[in-house]
Amino acid sequence: VLDRISKQVTMLVAKNGPILGVPGLAVIQVGNRSDSSKYVEMKHLAAKKVGIASLNFAFEKDCKTEDIIGTIDKLNQRQDIDGILVQLPLPRDQKRILNTIDPEKDVDGFHPYNIGLLTRMGEELRQENKLFDPTQCRNVACTAMGVMMLLEGTDIAGKSAVILGRSNIVGLPLALMLLHRDATVTFCHSHTVDIKERCLQADILVAAMGQAEMVKGDWIKPGAVVIDVGINVQNEILVGDVDFKQAVKRAARITPVPGGVGPMTVAMLMLNTLNNRIHRLAHLKI
Ligand code: NDP
Repeated sequence: VLDRISKQVTMLVAKNGPILGVPGLAVIQVGNRSDSSKYVEMKHLAAKKVGIASLNFAFEKDCKTEDIIGTIDKLNQRQDIDGILVQLPLPRDQKRILNTIDPEKDVDGFHPYNIGLLTRMGEELRQENKLFDPTQCRNVACTAMGVMMLLEGTDIAGKSAVILGRSNIVGLPLALMLLHRDATVTFCHSHTVDIKERCLQADILVAAMGQAEMVKGDWIKPGAVVIDVGINVQNEILVGDVDFKQAVKRAARITPVPGGVGPMTVAMLMLNTLNNRIHRLAHLKI
């Protein structure tokens, strides 16, 4: 995926020159949580790899919210910036800070406007006889989009998709995307009483709970496709929400942790940034 994005950036630069052709991403980090610093570093590395210009804005944990908002206001105006990402979690005022981002530069897809567009998209696609295509998206949640990319080549229409987790970041947007591909979607969450039975019905099972290896091998319908979004530290090693060693014996296809959804999420951030630049260039030429 990164290779494809890199080629598209090269083509944009060849056609429009380096000032208009190079997409720009701004990453804002507040405080110095080590996990956040690692994720930010991975995002800058991916941007460098594909030729996207990435800028870093670091704030102290106890900085004023107004200072962060002031920086976002300026980034909203900058012509060289196509994407603004605020690394979560924030120590405070998360909703206010995220809502300051111009929806046209909201590469994490968290703005209510973009969630609204994603929600409404299904009916529009059906009217036009089209299916949801993650490669054509801008400003939608990167992890959910990454799961859809990983599902390319899997039959989705009419299949039973069970999503464990209903967060705004993963479960909820993913359910919309799967619905827009004609899956029959079931959510499970912390109040669901019969999770194992529901998982056993799933042709596509996506685990995004943040519960280390909770999904056991005998929860998986033989031949199911299993996507493990979870990232948990257990005895100092990273594990997913699925017990991989058991699950791999039943699943037709399964993603590992680490090395599955995580890198694909970063790639989708690059794709959202690129697609915003392509969209803006097309708009400039009208
Ligand atoms: P949240 O904590 O926001 O949401 C967790 C969801 O899982 C909630 O809906 C919660 O239910 C549900 N849940 C939690 N415990 C249980 C349980 N025991 N049984 C059933 N449902 C449960 O987490 P996120 O969505 O932000 O992240 C989920 C996981 O994905 C985490 O491990 C996170 O690190 C990882 N992640 C990975 C990314 C990647 O790029 N690979 C990106 C983003 C997240 P309820 O709503 O009832 O509370």
